[in-house]
Amino acid sequence: MDTFAATCEAAAATTKKTEKTRIVADYLRSLGPTTAPRAAQFLAGQVFPVWEERTLQLGGAQLWRAIAAITGKSERELSATYRRYGDLGSAAADVLRGIAPKLSELSIADLEAVFDNLASARDTVARMAELQEILSRLSPLGAKYFVKLITGDMRIGLKESLVEEAVAKAWGRSIEQVQRANMLLGDLAETTRLAIENRLSEARLRLFHPIGFMLASPAADSAEAFEYFEHARVEDKYDGIRAQAHTVDQRVRIFSRTRDDITESFPELVPWLAALPRSAVLDGEILAWDFDEPGGRALPFSSLQKRLGRKRVSRTLLRDIPVAYVVFDVLHLGGELIIDETLRVRNERLNLLFATPLVPATGEHAGDRQSPLFAEENPHDSPRVLRAPAWEANSPAELDRLFEQAQARGNEGLMIKDLNSPYLPGRRGRSWLKLKRELATLDVIVTAVEYGHGKRAKVLSDYTFAVRDGHRLRNVGKAYTGLTDVEIAKMTQWFLAHTLTDHGWVREVEPKIVLEVAFNAVMESDRHDSGYALRFPRIVRLRDDKSADEIDTIDRVREIFERQKRRGSAAS
Ligand code: AMP
Repeated sequence: MDTFAATCEAAAATTKKTEKTRIVADYLRSLGPTTAPRAAQFLAGQVFPVWEERTLQLGGAQLWRAIAAITGKSERELSATYRRYGDLGSAAADVLRGIAPKLSELSIADLEAVFDNLASARDTVARMAELQEILSRLSPLGAKYFVKLITGDMRIGLKESLVEEAVAKAWGRSIEQVQRANMLLGDLAETTRLAIENRLSEARLRLFHPIGFMLASPAADSAEAFEYFEHARVEDKYDGIRAQAHTVDQRVRIFSRTRDDITESFPELVPWLAALPRSAVLDGEILAWDFDEPGGRALPFSSLQKRLGRKRVSRTLLRDIPVAYVVFDVLHLGGELIIDETLRVRNERLNLLFATPLVPATGEHAGDRQSPLFAEENPHDSPRVLRAPAWEANSPAELDRLFEQAQARGNEGLMIKDLNSPYLPGRRGRSWLKLKRELATLDVIVTAVEYGHGKRAKVLSDYTFAVRDGHRLRNVGKAYTGLTDVEIAKMTQWFLAHTLTDHGWVREVEPKIVLEVAFNAVMESDRHDSGYALRFPRIVRLRDDKSADEIDTIDRVREIFERQKRRGSAAS
C-alpha cells in the first residue's frame, strides 16, 4: 500500500504525461502478475471495475467520523485541517501523523478484500467498524490514498487513458490493443491481466456488461456541421436519458450512461426488447412518450424526470408516464461485434432488425411479470421500442429545415452523424455533432456559491461556474435562476457539506456539480480569470450524469466567441 501511495505521490508531482506514464509503468512492472492488475485499476481511481454495479456506500461524512474516532480530534480541528487542503485524503494524512503506524500493514491484495468487505457489510455500524479497523493499520501516506480512492478523488492526473498507456509500456504491448481490450471489457484489471499474458486479442465484448457510449461534439450552427463531413445522417436530438440495451434469448438488461443497471426502472420496455428477432446490444434514448398522438411523440424531459431515481415503479406511474425506447444504433448483433462497421452499414442492420413488427415477448424472463401489466396499461398495444427516424442532408439549408421540424416535434434539436464513421465507445469526437437551440449550451462546473436575496437569503442559490482549461478550472459566469426551490434546497445542503473555503459571503466549493447553462452571448471580460463572461446565463438543468472531466473547455468558449464575432461582422 505504501509503494502504491508513493507512486501516486510521484505521479502527482509531475505534470508531464510521459513522466507519469513511466512512473506508473515502472511500478506496475515491479509488482507480480497477480498484484499488478488490481493496482492498475486502483491507480485509475476505480475501487471496482467500471462494469460492476457494486459501490462502497461510503460517503465523506462516514470517513470523516472514522478519522475523528481514531485521532480523537475535534470537529473544529478536523475542519480547519480539511480547509487547509481542500481534500479529505490529505487532511487525513495530516491528522494521522504521529498517531498512525509508520508503515502500512496492508497490501494491494488486502485492499481488494477490504473493499469487498466494505461493499457487503451488513449495515452502517459494521461498515464503520471495518473502516476504523483498516484506517488504524495504515500509515499516514497509505491512509491518504485509501481515503482518496474511496472518495473517488485521486487528483494525481492519472486518467484511465494514462494508466492504459502505462500498461502498454510496462509489457511492451500496443496502446491500441490495450485501449480496445479495456473498452470491450470495461475492466482495467482484466485488461492488465491480458496484457501481461500477451492475450489482449482475446478480449471480447461480454453481453450484459455495458460498454462506453459514443458521444457528440457541439456544433454552433448548420454550416459548422458541414465543415466536418459531407454525408450526414440526421436524427432528432431527443431529450431523455441515454440507454444501452442488451438482449439475448429473452434476457434483457438496460444500462444508463453511467453504466448503472436501470432495467427495473423501465419494466415495460423489457418484453419489447425480448421480442427482437436476434440478440443485440442497442444504443438509444428512453423518453416519456405520448402514445395518443398519431405516430407517437416525445414528451419533454421534465415529464420523464418523475420516472427517474426510482428502483421500483408503481402501476400508477407506469400508467401516467409511459415511456418508449428510441433506438438509433446497434453495436452487437447476432453474436457479432459490429462497432467497426460504418454507420451506413450499422443502419442497414438496424433496419433489418426492425423490419418485422414486434410482438411483445411472453417468455420465461420477459413475459411472466410484465405482459399482463403491460397489456392493461397500453391498450393501443403500440410498440415501446422504436427505430429512430432518420434523414439525410447534403446542405446547411436542408439541415436548417430539419432543425425547425425537430423543434416543432418538441425535440431539442438535431444529431448529425457521419455515415462513414465507426462507433467509438466512450469517445467524444467530430463524427457525431449535436445542434441545439440558437446558441449552444455549455456544461460547466460550480466553483463557488453565495446566499441569494429576498426569499433566497437563507439558501445558496447564486453559483459561479467554470469551464476546463487543461487541469485548471476557469470561471466564465455566475447564474441565479433556473433551478426549482427543491433543487436549490438540496444543493444548499450539498454545498454546505462540501465547502473548501468559507469567506463568509462566498464559499468556494468542491468542483463536482455540473450544470448545463444557456446564455445569449459570450463577452470578453476581466471579471473572471478566463477572460470571458457569459451574457445572461441561465441554468437549464443539473447534469448529475456528467462528471468534472466531461465539462466544456475554454477552447469551446473561445470558439463560440470567435464564431459570434464572424457572424456579427457578416451581418453588419
Ligand atoms: P449532451 O447530453 O447535451 O452532451 O448531448 C448528447 C446526448 O444527446 C447523448 O448522450 C444522448 O443522450 C442524447 N441524444 C439524443 N438524441 C440522440 C440521437 N439521435 N443520437 C445520439 N444521441 C442522442
